[in-house]
Amino acid sequence: MSASKKGDLTSSEKELFEVITAGNVQEASRLLGCKDVRVNCLDEYGMTPLMHAAYKGKADMCKLLLQHGADVNCNEHEHGYTALMFAGLSGKTDITWMMLDAGAETDVVNSVGRTAAQMAAFVGQHDCVTVINNFFSRARLDYYTKPQGLEKKPKLPPKLAGPLHKVIMSTNLNPVKMVMLVKENPLLAEVEALDQCRRVMELICEKCIKQQDMNEVLAMKMHYISCVLGKCASFLKDREDKLDGLIKSLLKGQDSDGFPVYQEKFIRECIRKFPYCDATLLQQLVRSIAPVEIGNDPTALSVLTQAITGQVGFMDAEFCTSCGEKGAEKRCSICKMVIYCDQTCQKMHWFTHKKVCKKLQEQREKQEAETAKRRMQQSKEDNKAVQEATDSMQELSVETNSEADLSDSAAETSNATAIEAANN
Ligand SMILES: [Zn+2]
Ligand SMILES: [Zn+2]
Repeated sequence: MSASKKGDLTSSEKELFEVITAGNVQEASRLLGCKDVRVNCLDEYGMTPLMHAAYKGKADMCKLLLQHGADVNCNEHEHGYTALMFAGLSGKTDITWMMLDAGAETDVVNSVGRTAAQMAAFVGQHDCVTVINNFFSRARLDYYTKPQGLEKKPKLPPKLAGPLHKVIMSTNLNPVKMVMLVKENPLLAEVEALDQCRRVMELICEKCIKQQDMNEVLAMKMHYISCVLGKCASFLKDREDKLDGLIKSLLKGQDSDGFPVYQEKFIRECIRKFPYCDATLLQQLVRSIAPVEIGNDPTALSVLTQAITGQVGFMDAEFCTSCGEKGAEKRCSICKMVIYCDQTCQKMHWFTHKKVCKKLQEQREKQEAETAKRRMQQSKEDNKAVQEATDSMQELSVETNSEADLSDSAAETSNATAIEAANN
C-alpha cells in the first residue's frame, strides 16, 4: 500500500486507532494482519498507531506494533512530536526504554525546539529523563568489538561487551555499586580487560564531545566509568585485598560522623580529570562542588548524579547507604539511621559504620525526644489559641446579637442594592 497521508485512513485503520485506545492487543494483532492496514498510517494530526500506544502508556501494544515494523522515528506529527516524546510524556519508563531500544533518536526536536528528554523534564517525568539521558545502545558498543580499518584485533573483545554494557546502563553512579558490578563478573575483573574497557570508554567520551550534536552528559558518564575501571585495575595490580580493598576504601567513613572522605575525594578527582576543559557541564559541576567543604552537602556524588541522570534529591531515605541502590528497606537495627539493600550491603558497611552507629543512635533518640517535646508544647499552644478564639467569638456574638434586631431592615436594603449592582 502507498505511504500514508495525514488523516487518509481506511476503515480498518480507523478501527486500529480505536482498539489501541481501548488497549485490545488481540484485536490490534488481528487488524495488523489485514491487507488494508498500514502500521505507519497517520491520523489527522500526523500521529501513528505507535505514537498513540506510547502516549496512552500501553506497553504490550507498543511491542506488538514494533514487531509489525512500526517506524519509531516517524516525524509527521503536526508539532514534530516523536514516539519517544510521547513515551516520555506518558511517564512510562518501560515504554521509553522500548522506544530507545528500537532505535529512537534522542536529539530530534519538536516544533518548539525541545528534545524528548527536555519535554519529559518539563512535565515532571524525571524517571523517563533518566532513562533517555543514560541510554547507550548495545549496537554502539558492539561497534568496538569488530576490527576497524587496519586493526587486526578489535579494541574490545566481544565477550566484554555484555558486562561493560551493564556497567554503562546503570543509573546508579555510586562507585561502590560500579565496583560490585565489576567484581561480580570474572571476565571484567581482570587488569587487561579493565584497561581495554577503559580505552573504549575514553574513545566514546571523545566521540560524544567531538560529534556535531555534542552530548556532554554521556561524555562525562563515560569518563567517570573509565576512572572507576582504572581504579579497579590499580587495586587489582597493587593491593592484596584487591577489589574488596577498593570497596572498603570507598566506604570508610571519618571518625566524627562516618562521612566517606576517600569516596568524595575520588569522585571530585574524576570530575576534575575530565579531559575537555571547555565543556559547560564540567564548569557547572566544578562550580557546584568546589565551594563545598569535604564532609558537607551536597556531595560530589549527588551533584554528579543529578547532572548525569537528572535524579534530584536522591540521597533520601530509600537509597542504600553502601551501594546507593534505590528501594533499600533494611534498617540498621541499632541506630535505625542507615538503610541497606540486604545483609551483604550491611556487612560490607559494618566495619566503618560500627564506629558511628552508637552516636547516631543517641542523635536519633535525642531528636525524637525533642520532637515529642515540641509536639506537646505545640498542642498546648494550639489549645490555648483555640480557647482564646472561642472566647473572643463568644464576646463578638454577644455584641452582634444585641445589635441584630436594629440592623435587620438595614441589612435587607443593602442586600437589595448589592444584588442590583451585580445584575447591572
Ligand atoms: Zn546496597
Ligand atoms: Zn547503625
